[in-house]
Amino acid sequence: SRNEFKQMFEAHALASNFYNHLLLNTVEGEEALQYLEKRGFTRDSIEKYEIGWSLDNSSALADLLKRKGFDLKDMERAGLCIMKDDGTGFFDRFRGRIMFPLQDDNGAVIAFSGRTLSDSKQEAKYLNSPETPIFEKSRILYNFHNARLNVRKTGKVILFEGFMDTISANRADILNSVAVMGTSLSDTHLLKLKRIAKEVIICCDGDNAGWEAAKRFAVMAIKKGMDVQIALLPEKMDPDDYISEYGADAFRNKIIGNPHPYMSFIMAYAKRSKNLSNQNDVLQFIHEVLEELTERTSPVERDMYIRMISDETGISKDAINQQFLKMI
Ligand code: ATP
Ligand code: MN
Ligand code: MN
Ligand code: MN
Repeated sequence: SRNEFKQMFEAHALASNFYNHLLLNTVEGEEALQYLEKRGFTRDSIEKYEIGWSLDNSSALADLLKRKGFDLKDMERAGLCIMKDDGTGFFDRFRGRIMFPLQDDNGAVIAFSGRTLSDSKQEAKYLNSPETPIFEKSRILYNFHNARLNVRKTGKVILFEGFMDTISANRADILNSVAVMGTSLSDTHLLKLKRIAKEVIICCDGDNAGWEAAKRFAVMAIKKGMDVQIALLPEKMDPDDYISEYGADAFRNKIIGNPHPYMSFIMAYAKRSKNLSNQNDVLQFIHEVLEELTERTSPVERDMYIRMISDETGISKDAINQQFLKMI
């Protein structure tokens, strides 16, 4: 109901403010603040994204919500607290995590993603809010609200797989980026982007999951009729790692400023896992690239990539062309 929506929005605004206060102004938040500073977060970005800290082993938020008159059963549905097993009360859903508010298209906080302070693998690195009446994962893109104007102005949007990357890109003065929460991109996400930009630059992590996601995202965006390019990172690096290591200028110029068209990305992807001095790998490489090329109808493109395959492998253009003609 309308009232339920309104309460959920109010509770999230209150929670976000509370977490932010705990991070910036309390002894309990100091370690998290130091962690963020070590990762290059400025005071400005902490304020801009209203980043916060949730207390360890706590029902601090639940207690606050209760004091402010919220029904904690409703707050459980909102994804903010959880009823104790014995039913005697509620504790907070997020405990001992750095809190990143997720905002809707109007900038209202509707959910959270909480990050552990350590990468110990004992618990999930990120914990997200569950789906609620105000938080549909397939609709929400991190930073959409902030980026929208800039995306319209430039006609271009940069798509990352993690919100940390968007926050870092902002440090590199790249203001037209959004992020999905991991590797799931929906048609709804793409339609939202298509309405404000013709061009998308996909920039996923330089690991197996990232390359695979980049290909999936690219195919989806091409199907939607967008102009798609893919920006590639060195192995094992994500955009945030790259900016920390090589700086904002390098990221802007060498990575985002030098994106690959789809077929060129496919060649790089096919090459990534292969050793082209090995015969089997060469055959497999040619097969993988030609398979993608059969989907392309432009004769110029076909000629161009057949020449590139030839340069890459030392196999004659003629032979590759004959193989190609057998495949279509
Ligand atoms: P960090 O730099 O802090 O490690 P990241 O953005 O590089 O964060 P990735 O592991 O690359 O994190 O994951 C990308 C995105 O996938 C995250 O922003 C998060 O939304 C989602 N994600 C990652 N791990 C999990 C998890 N265990 N549970 C839920 N979502 C996750
Ligand atoms: Mn990743
Ligand atoms: Mn990453
Ligand atoms: Mn990262």
